[in-house]
Amino acid sequence: MRVVFPAILDGFACADADCACRRALRAGLLPDVPAKSKGKSSKSKLGPPPAAVPAGQAFPFAAGEAALIRGAAAAPGDPRLDAAELPGKIGDYPLIAQQTPQGVELTVATLCPSVRALLADSGEPVTIARAEGGWRAQLHVFAAQGKRKDVKLVAGTAIKWAEYAQLRDNLLDLVAEQTAPLLARLTRVALMLELAVGERTPTAPPPLLTGRGFLAYRGFLESRMAAANPQEMAELALRTTSLHGAESGLSSAQGPELLAALAGDWRADMLAWLVPYEHEVTPAVDGWLGVRVYAAPLDRDQSLARGYAEFLEGFAVGLRYAAALAHVRGRQVDAALMLAALALGEFYVSYRQEDLPLFVPPSSSHDRGPRMADLDMTLASVC
Ligand SMILES: [Zn+2]
Repeated sequence: MRVVFPAILDGFACADADCACRRALRAGLLPDVPAKSKGKSSKSKLGPPPAAVPAGQAFPFAAGEAALIRGAAAAPGDPRLDAAELPGKIGDYPLIAQQTPQGVELTVATLCPSVRALLADSGEPVTIARAEGGWRAQLHVFAAQGKRKDVKLVAGTAIKWAEYAQLRDNLLDLVAEQTAPLLARLTRVALMLELAVGERTPTAPPPLLTGRGFLAYRGFLESRMAAANPQEMAELALRTTSLHGAESGLSSAQGPELLAALAGDWRADMLAWLVPYEHEVTPAVDGWLGVRVYAAPLDRDQSLARGYAEFLEGFAVGLRYAAALAHVRGRQVDAALMLAALALGEFYVSYRQEDLPLFVPPSSSHDRGPRMADLDMTLASVC
């Protein structure tokens, strides 16, 4: 049987080790321990952590995430953190194995600190996504979206697996063009996703980068960054410090500082803490992009339209997290913080399940667009 898995998993050591994600998962899946009275609990705008999902009732990636956020807030000393067994089929998380028409594919969850540590060392998006063979550990294998001969495009419409596989290969090729600036590559990815979902031409060749297209994506990215909700971002980050605190430096006592940073001038924070270090963190971003483009939207069993919308939104929110977390700790964004921020951005989007606007490319026009040489394609240009 053909097994395709991210090359980073060659060195993966989460499944049996005492990784923070495995501890949180245990606490999220096992029944609640009666809480000691701590006085009034504050009202959260984000809503309570989701209830534990009975194993086997949902596709495991989303169910694993729900359990993770529930368990991440468990207090140190909670006996569920150290329970020996992970109940049910979600117990493979942060790994998920899927049956596809081409074999079995493994996906990883970026909320696992062990996964991010491997990503930070890699920076080779295509290798990450296309290692083959050699997998030995036993995993439950799932088939999302039925037997997976078709893949949902939007509600009521599907494309063939082969078309999806072609689209994914094209997207990975765009991500892998590491000589091009990050935002230039993301622009082509966004244009390609719009062709696939909006125009329903998933096997169309990758679009060329135009000045007009770049400005449209950059404007979209900036507007999605601005739209993120500081209060909910802060709550999610604070609730999950056990999963990212080692990299972000955030402790649960820093809630007011984090909220102030998120609600403050995020453009100034980007310019101070992230923009000067774009080159240093781009390899880590590339690793994240490779894993996300490879896995989304099938890992959460979504339509392509929804999964790709979440992907673009998660990147925008991740940039906001990176700037604010760096501000709070008073140190520049580095690869580890960047990956923690992107994982939080991804999680924020999938957790809220709100309607997301689609990226709309510019309509064709005979007016001359701006010259590429005149465009600033660094992260500074979204500030
Ligand atoms: Zn882990």
